[in-house]
Amino acid sequence: MLKNLNKSIAWNAFKHIAWGTLKRRLPVKLVCPFYHLISDDDLPHIQYLYKPRTLIQFRKDLQFIIKYYKPVSLKDVHNSIISHKPLSNDSILITIDDGYRECYDFIAPELAWYGIPAVFFLTTSFLDNKSLFSRNKASLLCSVLDKKVLTIPQISTICNLLDIKNPALDQMKSTVLSLAFKDESVLNKIAEVIDYNFDHFLRMQQPYMTSQMVDSLIRQGFEVGAHSASHKKFLFLTEEEKIHEIQSSMEFLEKKFSPEIKSFAFPFDDESMSSNIYGKLKSNVDLFFAAHDLIDDPIPFVFHRFWMEKYAGDIQIVFKRFYFEKMIRKLRGKDFYKRP
Ligand SMILES: [Zn+2]
Repeated sequence: MLKNLNKSIAWNAFKHIAWGTLKRRLPVKLVCPFYHLISDDDLPHIQYLYKPRTLIQFRKDLQFIIKYYKPVSLKDVHNSIISHKPLSNDSILITIDDGYRECYDFIAPELAWYGIPAVFFLTTSFLDNKSLFSRNKASLLCSVLDKKVLTIPQISTICNLLDIKNPALDQMKSTVLSLAFKDESVLNKIAEVIDYNFDHFLRMQQPYMTSQMVDSLIRQGFEVGAHSASHKKFLFLTEEEKIHEIQSSMEFLEKKFSPEIKSFAFPFDDESMSSNIYGKLKSNVDLFFAAHDLIDDPIPFVFHRFWMEKYAGDIQIVFKRFYFEKMIRKLRGKDFYKRP
């Protein structure tokens, strides 16, 4: 309680520090935010997961980025490693995950307008709308549960499937969302119970990019990387499964799009990835991206990113939140990444 209060007082002081001073005092090897999509509307497959930035917010983000940072490409980052020449402290790499169609419709045109390079990390099983992400399924189910009047037998079956005693709507929705990480089969069974068809949504809405759209992004000068084969949480996978998720998605991407730099961004995070596994995969991947915010990794080809949809509001405040967390870690002597 006291700890939280102190942190909140510190944040209130910290957020008023001039931007330039803060950046100078808390340098990072590479500033690397990640987005998923931008939207002005509530999308049923997203709205229970996080709040995307709007088109206007994204434009303001890009104006801020070109004012205070030097946008770089994957190739620039890779060159800096092989030439042993560190990037300047102002370097920023924009990344976008999961391959939603809004990447093609809205994000790429905005980036192109400002001349900002970016990397689109694709989950290979979502590409061409082949399958629906378990988290998108969970959000869709929550949206139906919120709107549909269910019968008592339906509620009872859902509670049994979710293994909960309390049939309160909030409890059902939070359990559905948590199951997206662990047991997709329960989500499929609930969809059957409430007569919801995920395949129909996938066919009609086409929430992800097609290969043609990705080809077009590459022709425009954007880069692509892999974001695993099925977007499973690495924490729950065996070492063989982790290696398979990385290698198979990298091979797929190489065959289909031949990216010059071979890059992989972990879905969620690189939890439980040991230096040993990184060593085994070095020949398959030039650059890895994990997600422990503004922190430098001891492995030179691993970079950490921070999640732009984690906080709402003006980009300077969002960035300051992550710099604030960095400062707290620094004060506690914990601003380094410790790998198992
Ligand atoms: Zn993702």
